[in-house]
Amino acid sequence: LIARMQPFGTTIFAEMSALATSTGSINLGQGFPDTDGPAEMLAAATAAIEGGRNQYPPGPGVPELLDAVAAHQQRFYGIAVDPRSQVLVTAGATEAIAAVVLALCEPGDEVVTFEPYYDSYAATIALAGATRRTSVLRFPDFSVDEASIRAAFSSRTRLVLLNTPHNPTGKVFTREELELVAALAREHDAWVVTDEVYEHLVFDDAEHVPMATLPGMFDRTITISSAGKTFSATGWKVGWLSGPVEAVAAARTVKQFLTYVASGPFQPAVALALGLGDPVYAGLRDSLQAKRDLLCSALEASGLEVSRPSGTYFVIADAAPLGAVDGLEFARRLPGITGVVGVPVSVFHDDEDAARTLVRFAFCKKDDVLREASRRLAAAG
Ligand code: PMP
Ligand code: GLN
Repeated sequence: LIARMQPFGTTIFAEMSALATSTGSINLGQGFPDTDGPAEMLAAATAAIEGGRNQYPPGPGVPELLDAVAAHQQRFYGIAVDPRSQVLVTAGATEAIAAVVLALCEPGDEVVTFEPYYDSYAATIALAGATRRTSVLRFPDFSVDEASIRAAFSSRTRLVLLNTPHNPTGKVFTREELELVAALAREHDAWVVTDEVYEHLVFDDAEHVPMATLPGMFDRTITISSAGKTFSATGWKVGWLSGPVEAVAAARTVKQFLTYVASGPFQPAVALALGLGDPVYAGLRDSLQAKRDLLCSALEASGLEVSRPSGTYFVIADAAPLGAVDGLEFARRLPGITGVVGVPVSVFHDDEDAARTLVRFAFCKKDDVLREASRRLAAAG
C-alpha cells in the first residue's frame, strides 16, 4: 500500500459493525436506518428490475433522475440547474466527493475542511495527493472559530470541503458561519464542495442553508447529496452532485473511471422518491427528531453530557463518566461494558485531544432498539 494511504487501514465503521456482531451488541455505531424508505420507492425499484432495467444506465445518470435532482433543487431552495449539463449521478455521495476532489485538486494543493470530518474526506484528499488544512469544531456547541478557519486558508487553497448538516456532530451551520466560509473562499478564489447528504434531517427551528444559495456562491459551489439518508436506502448507493457546468463536466470525466455507472434500477426509483410530497420528507424528519429526544434523554439520565444535535441522525456524548480516557480504546471496550456500540469521535480528528472521551451514537433505529440501548447504558452508568 502506498505510504499516503497507510494511515487509513480499515474504516471505523467496518470495525465497529463487526464488533457489534461479534459481541451481540446493539449497533449505534455505523449510521444506517433499520427501517425502509417510502413504499412507492421500493415498488419502483422492483418494477425497474422486473421491467428489465438491469444493464448499464447512461454515464451521467438516467434522464428521469437528472430531471428529478434539478426539480428538487428548485423546489426546496430555488436553485436553477440544467439537468443535462449541471447534474451528475454518482455511486453515493462518497463517489461524488471523490470525483470532485480528484477532478479539481493537483498534488500539493490544499483542501480546507472542519474537523471532526467524515472519514472519506481525509482519505480522498490523500488519494488526490493534496494536503488537508483543518479548523476544529469543539464540543459541546461546535461553533466555528473565525480565527482558526481563517488560518486554515492560504495561497495554495484549492477547495473547501464543507458538510452541513454535519456528521459526526449533528451541527447545522448557521447562515453567518456559511457567509464567513463563503467570504474566505472568494478571497482565496477557492471552490466550495458542500456535502449536504443530511439536508432533510434538520430539527426544531434549525434551517438548512445550502451554500449555493448565498449571494455570488453558485458559480464556485458543487453541491452533493444522496438518497441513502433522505430515503433510508444506504445500500442503494445513489448520490448526485450539481453545480456550474465546468465543475460538473470535470467531475464527470473522473467519475467515468471510478465506477463508470452504478445502481441502474435504483436510479428511476430515487427519481420517483424525490418527487414525493412534503409529508414524506416531514415524516422522516419528525420521526428522527423524536428518536433524537429519546436517545439524548437516556444518555443524559445516564449521567453523560450530550450535545443535542440540530440535524443528522447522530449525537455526540462525552463518555468520561463511563471511564473513557482514550476514544478508540474506549469504543473498543464499550460493548463489553454496556452492550452498545458507538463510534469514537477522535478517529475523525487530526487533533485527537479535541475529542478524547467523545463517542458518537446513531439514533436512526426503531424505538424499541433505542429503548433497549438506553436501558443498557443506564445500567452501566
Ligand atoms: N457524507 C457524509 C457526511 C456521510 O455521513 C455519508 C454517509 N455516512 C456520506 C457522505 C456517504 O454517503 P453515501 O453512502 O451516499 O456514499
Ligand atoms: N455515513 C455512515 C456513518 O457516518 C457510514 C458510512 C460508511 O460505513 N462508510 O456512520
